[in-house]
Parts: sequence; C-alpha cells; structure tokens
Amino acid sequence: MSASNAETHTPSGCKANATSSGATLVEAEVAIVGAGLVGSSLALLLAEAGMRVALLESRKALVDKASLSAHPLPRVSALTPVSQRLLAGLGAWPGERATPYRAMQVWDAQGSGEIAFSADEAGLTVLGHIVENDVTQAALHARLATHSNVTLLLGARLSALQTSAKGYWLVLEDGRQVHASLTVAADGARSTLRSLAGIDVHEEPMEQEAVVTTVRCTHAHGNTARQAFVGGSPLAFLPLTVEEDDHYCSIVWSTTQAHADALASATPEALGKMLEEGIGGRLGKVSVCDGVHRFPLVQRHARRYALANLVLVGDAAHSIHPLAGQGVNLGLMDAAVLAEEVVSAWRRGAPWGALATLSRFERRRRFDNAAMLTMMKGFKRLFATTNPALTLARNLGMGGMHQLAPLKRVIMRQAAGERGRLPPSCR
Ligand SMILES: Cc1cc2nc3c(=O)[nH]c(=O)nc-3n(C[C@H](O)[C@H](O)[C@H](O)COP(=O)(O)OP(=O)(O)OC[C@H]3O[C@@H](n4cnc5c(N)ncnc54)[C@H](O)[C@@H]3O)c2cc1C
Repeated sequence: MSASNAETHTPSGCKANATSSGATLVEAEVAIVGAGLVGSSLALLLAEAGMRVALLESRKALVDKASLSAHPLPRVSALTPVSQRLLAGLGAWPGERATPYRAMQVWDAQGSGEIAFSADEAGLTVLGHIVENDVTQAALHARLATHSNVTLLLGARLSALQTSAKGYWLVLEDGRQVHASLTVAADGARSTLRSLAGIDVHEEPMEQEAVVTTVRCTHAHGNTARQAFVGGSPLAFLPLTVEEDDHYCSIVWSTTQAHADALASATPEALGKMLEEGIGGRLGKVSVCDGVHRFPLVQRHARRYALANLVLVGDAAHSIHPLAGQGVNLGLMDAAVLAEEVVSAWRRGAPWGALATLSRFERRRRFDNAAMLTMMKGFKRLFATTNPALTLARNLGMGGMHQLAPLKRVIMRQAAGERGRLPPSCR
C-alpha cells in the first residue's frame, strides 16, 4: 500500500472527527508513535485483541512488499525463535526471505580462542533467522493496512504533547490531533516523544560505528553465522540466501571511526580483500555487492519506561550494541509483555494506561534489557583489551566454554530468547 503525506486511514476502529478549522481529531484507546518493527508489532497485538489503536508514523508511506528489491537489502536483523513465534502468530513472518542459521562460530582473530554453537546441541531446530528489516516491516505493514481496529496517520510529525483528564493529546505539525488513554513511544533511539515527555536517558557512546554492507563469497555460507573479533572490532558475516543462492552474507563490522572511514573510502575490491582477511579466509573470496552504510553506536537506557498514561518500548527505551544481534528481539519482547499487561487490564475494565499497569510492564522488562546492555558493554571491553593477561584469559575462556556442553546449551537457549516467563504471544 502507498499513501501520501499527511494521510489518515480511519477504518471502523477509531473515532475520527473534524474541528471547525477542519483539523482531524482521532480518539483511540492506545496511540503508538513509530511504525517500526516494534511499534507495528505492538499495534497488531493490541488490535488483534480488539483494542482501537492509532499508529503514527513520520514516513509518508508504509513499506510495500511489491516495491522491495529482489537484491538483498542492506539492513538485516538476526531474529530469535521467540521473535519468530511472535511474528508468525501475527501473520507477519516473512518465511520465504528469512534465512535460517543452525550454527554459530565466534573467534578471536588475535588468538586461538574459538567457540562454536549448533542448534542440535541446544535441542533447537534453528538458532535464529537472518531477515532483511524491510521484508519483516512490509509483512507487518500489509497486516496493519487492512486492520479494522487500526487508524494509520502517515507523514505524522509531532509538535506537542498535552495532558488531558484521561491521557494525552498528541498534536501534529499539520494540525491533526490524536487522543488516547495510553500513548506509547516506539519512535526509535532518538525518540521525540520521550523528550516531549521529559524522560531522561542514560547514554554511553561506544566509540564505534557499525559499517554495514552485503557481500557474495565463493564458499556457501552453510547457514552459519560467523563473528570474528578483529583487534577488538566484531566483524559479523550473517548468512543470506537470495533466490536459492546461499553465497550471500550481510556484513556488520563495528569498529573505530578511523577504521570505518578507511572501510568506507576503499574501492569495492579493496574492501572485499579487507573483509576476506578479517574473516580469516573462511568463506573464500569476498565480493562486495552493495554500498557501505554507517551507523554510530550509542548504548542508551531510559531512566524510566513508564509515566501515567505514557510508556516507552523498543529503541525508545533502550538501544544496544549490535554485536549479539539483540535490539529488535528485546523490543519485540517489550511489545509482547506490554500488550499482555494492557489487554489484561482493558478486559477487566481497569484503566489500561494507569501507572500501576505500566509499572508491571517495566518491572518485567527492565531487568532483562539492563542485563543485556551490561553484557554487551562487558563483551566489547573484553575484546577491545590489549592487556596480555586479559587476552590470554579471553582465549582460554572461549576454549574452556567450548568444551562445556551444558553451559553452552544454557547460553544458546538464552540467546534464542528463551528467558524467563514468556508472554502467551511468544510461547
Ligand atoms: C548495524 C545494526 C545492526 C543491527 N542488528 C540487529 C540484529 O541482528 N538483531 C536485532 O535484534 N537488532 C539489531 N539491531 C538493532 C535494531 O535495528 C533496533 O533495535 C530496532 O530497529 C529498533 O526497532 P524500533 O521499532 O524500536 O525502532 P526503529 O526501527 O528506529 O523504528 C522507529 C520508527 O518510528 C518512526 N519515527 C521516528 N520518529 C518519529 C516521530 N517523531 N513521529 C512518528 N514516527 C517516528 C521511524 O520512521 C521508524 O519507523 C541492529 C542495529 C544496527 C544499528
């Protein structure tokens, strides 16, 4: 579906009126700002349960499956089996373009440390899937575009947030206004709504940038995700199968700014060579088949997720180093847990935007998110060190862990998202 700027799609779900000045007023039970992977999933979870949802997105059009290039798209995510179950339950699992990975290899390019994981060892069918973000996004947007409980406001640019007796008014630059008892910020790491609500965030620059591109290798990827730590910089080769060709990989190299400059300014041939050396030649000759995209890395954690009638989810609440591919997965779990708490309150006739309801969500999610943020910081520091004692410990640690099947099984199940009490939508 495509839509023009400042378009409001109001199916039967929400009440939409016009003021005397002609501005659209939308009344919903929940207003979500941001139709990324997290906001879109949350909107569908709530709408499927019967709630009336207004979804505001600054982009002027939804992502349309028909307009996606057949060529691999640059932004991908490693989605856990738990995230897969959530998306499949919403009818938005992009099956045909999701590449399963059944093994994972992580090694220290500066030493002998190496650890390998396989789905079989953990009693899982797959460890996860690599999926192009826009492919998942298109599947979610296709479901949202036709959902009778969802009002979509595209080209939505927030200008003000005003409290009301029962929640918040969201005022858009073009005059449209949305009212809801619960307003959700799903507008990403630099959330405008979080700032308008005055929620402070703890920020920690990672002194690294992620350099992203797509390559084709002479060796097949073998459905294995690989990550080498090259001088403290994690270099990931994530398997992508494109039209049955299993020689593609999506690259994420998180590295210093100077090194990112060097990678970005290299010719495709020179960059291919650098990647081939970085991965120790394990996939043969590497040919770059896309431009280079760069993302500055900053870890952020909001000091609180919830106020009365307002809550943060996904990257608006926490953004994390991509070395373990957990950002979207944590955000999808936020969406699932928030939907469980909100729908349960709504069905009981209790105020679903009440601080007590939202605090229950925060208590269930903050610890998991904080633990993952701390772990990523620790990994980054451990692999960045040049201290010989720590380098030795790191290599011995990886080697030792490789021998410990029960410990590996626990790590794999945790990385697959099987942690704590899962909401029904993820079981
Ligand atoms: C290089 C890299 C690799 C990564 N790899 C992985 C991985 O393998 N696995 C994984 O789980 N995670 C990964 N991540 C993290 C992941 O991309 C993010 O965690 C995820 O995209 C966050 O989703 P979100 O929906 O919360 O936010 P976003 O994706 O940022 O979506 C926010 C949405 O809100 C909209 N918006 C923004 N501002 C406004 C506004 N004011 N009004 C209305 N709409 C607005 C935006 O247009 C967008 O649609 C990676 C990140 C990077 C940088």
